[in-house]
Amino acid sequence: MTLNVSVDVNGAVIGSVEITNQTGGTTADSVNTYAWTYLGEGDRKLNGLIDHRYGDGALVLAANVVERIARRYQLVAHLDHTSGDVPSCPMCAEVAHV
Ligand SMILES: [Zn+2]
Repeated sequence: MTLNVSVDVNGAVIGSVEITNQTGGTTADSVNTYAWTYLGEGDRKLNGLIDHRYGDGALVLAANVVERIARRYQLVAHLDHTSGDVPSCPMCAEVAHV
């Protein structure tokens, strides 16, 4: 099974994710490993693996993968501004609350 997620802004695709089941379980409680690949603007490419319970459905899988991608982009932006807290950065805000 391959799930495709496309992000389109005003008709232009700015990112797409392909998520493929590596283990193939199809009962509700099967926890499968999925490989995902993200292609973004400017030839940006990310990939990874995620475990997902089959019975939770495709939208939950898509949401969890997209969240991981978003977190990686936040982390990259956070690591780019090492000189103190940036109020608009969600990762700086998280650290401040720990
Ligand atoms: Zn930051």
